[in-house]
Amino acid sequence: MTSHLHSHHETLTTMADGTIKQINPFSGTEVWTVPGRGDRPLSAPAAAPQPLSPGAATSTCAFCEDNQLQTPPEKSRIVRRNGWEILRGLTPDELGQTQAEFRRVPNLFEIVSYDYWNKNYGFEMSPQQRERMESYLSIDVGRSHVMEIVRKRLGAAGKQATDTELLALAPAYFAGGHDVIIARRHYIDGATDTSQLASSGTLTPEEHHAFITLTIDSMRDLYFSNRYVPYVVVFQNWLSPAGASFEHLHKQLVAIDERGVNNDEEIAKLRHNPNMYNEFGVNYAFYNNLVIAENDTAILVAGIGHRFPTVTVYSKSAALEPWDMSPEEARDFSDMLHAAHAATGPEVATNEEWHHKPIDLDIPMPLRVNLKWRVSTLAGFEGGTKIYVNTLSPHAIRDRMVANLHQQRALGAIAPSIRIATECSPARNCLRYNPSLQ
Ligand SMILES: [Zn+2]
Repeated sequence: MTSHLHSHHETLTTMADGTIKQINPFSGTEVWTVPGRGDRPLSAPAAAPQPLSPGAATSTCAFCEDNQLQTPPEKSRIVRRNGWEILRGLTPDELGQTQAEFRRVPNLFEIVSYDYWNKNYGFEMSPQQRERMESYLSIDVGRSHVMEIVRKRLGAAGKQATDTELLALAPAYFAGGHDVIIARRHYIDGATDTSQLASSGTLTPEEHHAFITLTIDSMRDLYFSNRYVPYVVVFQNWLSPAGASFEHLHKQLVAIDERGVNNDEEIAKLRHNPNMYNEFGVNYAFYNNLVIAENDTAILVAGIGHRFPTVTVYSKSAALEPWDMSPEEARDFSDMLHAAHAATGPEVATNEEWHHKPIDLDIPMPLRVNLKWRVSTLAGFEGGTKIYVNTLSPHAIRDRMVANLHQQRALGAIAPSIRIATECSPARNCLRYNPSLQ
């Protein structure tokens, strides 16, 4: 597989009959696109839309605005107040005093629990976290909120507990490492039926920037609240085919105690070729006309060799950590990811997967996000061959995205600074993470 890394024409090969063979330059995944399969719609027709009942916009699910006590105690929120402001550690009484555009709350069902860090590493909550927990539990409404949350969690597992046992589980919701960032809206403003969900792409670019700001702030906090954490996984599952349990827009962050197998393999390649994200990511995309859009410090390209059709946003920033990007770089990154969602469309189930430098890694990596379209694939074939059949070639993805971006721009729905397709300037090595380019 290594030879493919050095040979551009083997990364993307078109056969005489039109079959396109792709090798992912980072993971080695082999994908074929077979002619005549790309015209199928990207989304299965949803169940017949139902008219929205009064109040549905704010009370449809546990993530909705009216149900703020159905989630564990809020860690932080971002509000509009002469610009955006992050408020931290509110009490239940304070939740209604401002309108949270996005809220960060612990996941009710953690993938990696507080107990995991405590038992395996001897992790203890910080004095600040303990103080916050104690003050939250010292007021009646806070105490009953936490007990109710723990009861809900245990109830889902068919367990019952005494009040003392319930309170013993409280630290999970003040010092845990699995958080959810929840958007304010379930449906778009003025929605009349259940099909009109509010997605990343239906936010304004300003709102999406607030979403990204709170996400990056939370990522930093998870790294710095637990010194045993080398990596924080950030992702967004949109719609049930992509694994979402709620049709209410949210991202998740999970602190883990390893870098992950894929990261380990990619890091080994990066040590060999520190410029590989430029060479195999953006330069290759330029040379093959697979750049979809660009702004001053971010770029969007069609991905090669992904099991599902994928577009990738790269930040061009030289910042080593996402929270060290300049405000302009963070805004550009957000605008590009927002545009990718807007052009994909809210009806398409997607996984948004962030990749960034593990905090203990000594070599730089760019911040990048894969947006995967969870369209149907051919099951059965993959198992025996490890070759995946994808329904859309990188060029077909580009064409669809470029057409939709022009449409979104005409509607004024994406940031005006975004340059689309032929408006992009083909600067080689535009990702500035590589120190020898700085
Ligand atoms: Zn909801």
